[in-house]
Amino acid sequence: MYFHGDPLEQDKKPIHETLLEKFITLHEKDPENPAFVTAENESDYLSYQDLHTKIVALSEWFVENGYKKGDVVLIASNNNWRFFAAYLGAWRAGLIVSAASDQFTPFEMNQQIDDSQAQLIFVDAHTLLVVLEASKGVKTVRHIVSFSSSPPAKVLQFDTLTNRVVKNIKMPVIDAHNDIVFLPYSSGTTGKPKGVMISHINLSTMLASTLKAFGTIAMSFGLPEDFAIPQDLHFLPMYHAMGMFRTLINAYRGSTQIVFTKFNLELVLQLVEKHSIMSIAMVPAILVKMVNSPLLQKYDISSLATITLGSAPLPEGAVQKLKSILPDVKVVQGYGMTELTFASHFPAPDSPEQSVGRLLPGSSMKVTKEDGTLCGIKEIGELWIKGPQMMKGYWRKDDLNKDLFDSEGYMRTGDIVYFDENGDTYICDRMKELIKVNAKQVAPAELESVALEHHDVADVCVFGVDDATSGERPVALVVPKGKRTQETAKAIMKHINDKLARYKHIKEVEFVSEIMRTGTGKILRRHMKKMYLEPRKSR
Ligand code: AMP
Repeated sequence: MYFHGDPLEQDKKPIHETLLEKFITLHEKDPENPAFVTAENESDYLSYQDLHTKIVALSEWFVENGYKKGDVVLIASNNNWRFFAAYLGAWRAGLIVSAASDQFTPFEMNQQIDDSQAQLIFVDAHTLLVVLEASKGVKTVRHIVSFSSSPPAKVLQFDTLTNRVVKNIKMPVIDAHNDIVFLPYSSGTTGKPKGVMISHINLSTMLASTLKAFGTIAMSFGLPEDFAIPQDLHFLPMYHAMGMFRTLINAYRGSTQIVFTKFNLELVLQLVEKHSIMSIAMVPAILVKMVNSPLLQKYDISSLATITLGSAPLPEGAVQKLKSILPDVKVVQGYGMTELTFASHFPAPDSPEQSVGRLLPGSSMKVTKEDGTLCGIKEIGELWIKGPQMMKGYWRKDDLNKDLFDSEGYMRTGDIVYFDENGDTYICDRMKELIKVNAKQVAPAELESVALEHHDVADVCVFGVDDATSGERPVALVVPKGKRTQETAKAIMKHINDKLARYKHIKEVEFVSEIMRTGTGKILRRHMKKMYLEPRKSR
């Protein structure tokens, strides 16, 4: 059985044009309403007018400095308003923006700089040294630009690029259908992280479909369809599809975004109370942290009407605990993937809270059994999505791109689901390799390739196991070349962890005598995980 979302009117404009036009209207409507406020220092804010001017000035700097349509820039920073201005300034100049975790080590940063062929890298005070180290000897990099106030020599300062007089320089002509605008990294259903090519049309259709879905929820609360929450506490990482899109849609709707440079639960609760925040978006690991925190006793967060979640499975226990604290709060759980720009499913007002809701307008889905035949209502199988928000393909990976979509144009998600008669969809499991730690992507193939560099590792298999705090954690099964000692296990673990960001760290290396593989050499990961879990079940 196939399911189709409502039809969607498609905007043909480059996404930055839509947003920049909107910023002018928003400023005219209410000049006092800031676009961004810094959570840690609320006297630091930016109006929609200033945001607009800075974006235009930055785009002109790019053109004047020889950047051409299709060149790539990378942002490696914590969340702040400059991050968003950098996105739009680059887009207006026809550039592609990739974004990397601000927790990356020089090794990981180097991989993304090298693969994306970034020519300019935006950094903050914290990522500067990592990026300087990672970009050593990378020939494509022409400039490093810091968001902080006093960068060292040879590093440009962001504010000097955006505080220039606007000259109305001609910008490149954009082909909204084909030009790539955003290049986040994701491992997809298999392998190492890859650049996901998102076009202007991907973003503008995502905006249109999400606005419709948000509008339906607003109306169910008796609010107008175009209602925008006055203030949004923003701590989802802006480098990830979900965080980037949240920033974009908030900016379009004219909400003031109170941006956290660093997540701080107490400050979140304080600001919910102070500003009577109505709606908040978070990942399940933060919900778990919040509902288990004694800090909840200190603050009145009863203003919260909705909590939007996504990006990882939602633990039932955390939702129950939330309901015991805030019985009337509505849990709004969506579903998506970086490869789907951001999302394919969002709840309707009457969707059950355990589901991820229904298809967004413009999207279609099918669920298939192992033999490829279609599942019916409430039959469990793999989810496939088709829609205008599907990525263009993986960056410089032509070998993978030819097999991305099936003959009907559907994209495999690697997620196991079922849907009911209304199309409300329930996520049951993940069959792809991907591990999600605090909703952040951890690709087993990346950890395995780092592990294999260690002289004591003959073969290795990495998979995720459930974790009460972070959702999942990676575990490595290793076939050692030498003795199976604790020192060897520790040395292998240290080798992996020294090279990778903290959220990818392995805390457990177990020795095995063989890693089972298919005839074509593919690791039988689920089988290995089962072997690992079996003896633990009885404990
Ligand atoms: P990412 O590309 O980082 O957004 O990760 C996408 C993956 O996150 C999906 O393929 C799912 O495995 C998982 N995911 C996203 N939303 C949910 C959800 N609501 N429940 C369970 N898993 C989810």
